[in-house]
Amino acid sequence: MFNSQVVSGLEKHETPFYYYDIAGLTANVRACEEASSKYNFHVHFAMKANFNRRVLDVIQTAGFGADCVSGGEVKKALESGFSGKSIVFAGVGKSDAEINLALDNDIFCFNVESVQELEIINELAEKKGKRASVAIRINPNVDAHTHHYITTGLDENKFGINSWDLPKVIDTLKASKNLEFVGIHFHVGSQITDMNVFKSLCVKVNEMQQWFEERGVAIKVLNVGGGLGVDYHHPDQNVVVDFESYFKIFNDFLDVKPHQEVHFELGRALVAQSASLITRVLYLKHGIKKNFAIVDAGMTELMRPALYQAYHKIENISDLAFSKELKSYDVVGPICESSDCFAKEIELPELSRGDLLAIRTAGAYGEVMASAYNLRPSIRSVYSDEI
Ligand SMILES: *Cc1c(COP(=O)(O)O)cnc(C)c1O
Repeated sequence: MFNSQVVSGLEKHETPFYYYDIAGLTANVRACEEASSKYNFHVHFAMKANFNRRVLDVIQTAGFGADCVSGGEVKKALESGFSGKSIVFAGVGKSDAEINLALDNDIFCFNVESVQELEIINELAEKKGKRASVAIRINPNVDAHTHHYITTGLDENKFGINSWDLPKVIDTLKASKNLEFVGIHFHVGSQITDMNVFKSLCVKVNEMQQWFEERGVAIKVLNVGGGLGVDYHHPDQNVVVDFESYFKIFNDFLDVKPHQEVHFELGRALVAQSASLITRVLYLKHGIKKNFAIVDAGMTELMRPALYQAYHKIENISDLAFSKELKSYDVVGPICESSDCFAKEIELPELSRGDLLAIRTAGAYGEVMASAYNLRPSIRSVYSDEI
């Protein structure tokens, strides 16, 4: 991703900023489109991973739909040119105003996370004289084997409806004239790299659809969510994600009937490798055992390390040739929090004030989580085809 020409282009920009590799993003999105269309699978892009205008443009050319988790995202999806009919809307706490916005725009489907939410959507749809398409988000009790903050599919979790509440769901659906039940939805977590998790998910989905059909409830849509992980350790070797293997698992293990559609909601896998956070070394401080590199980006620009102890590979792109001796550094930001740390004790070619660092694989849950804490200015973006 980085060569001396790119770095001299980046030198002209004020740091910190996100640097987007538009060609890499396009190749990855295209790979996903090709692998999914082989099986007629429908992909929705999880907008919460990244809603940068340029990123959404690339996603849209692939013809993907949008997966939204707030009214703000539904609005942004519509403004960005996604059709209402391509939008799925999940979230445990949809407000009345958010539900009304989605009803007004005839979205493809609400992914409903509680029995009470079903009743409220029915009520609000009735007031508008509409029928709302709903899928039930079921808690599959599948362990995603990932960080506990990004595991969502276990029983003791705020997301989804637990299996013991399903009889009540069926009663509610039967009593709700303004709901059209389209199917079942699952999302087990994020950054899943163990493909067995998706096999277990398929088994669960098969069990669940059988349960519904035994009770005379037909299922049209099987929405298996997202969660496919990326390689944070080797960003250059794995710019394009192995979508072929991922979709093949669902083709092999999911019991799909001829009238059914399979939907996916991918976020991270589509965009994570497309961006790096570029930051400049401000100061070097030498402790007794440690060297600190204090950089001009912080948790306000990229929160994942502070929030989930997430690993991001860091490179000294001012010394691409590794001409200097390797030294150990803690790379920390300027924010007044001890958790404002990008990496501990990593080896980098010796740093000097002014060196540029690339914090890799920052295209998902990076720019979108930026905050103004400490009154930081809003984060800028630079694109590979504009430098
Ligand atoms: C966040 C989210 C996704 C996307 O997750 P990734 O790990 O980024 O693929 C999909 N579906 C729902 C309901 C989500 O909340």
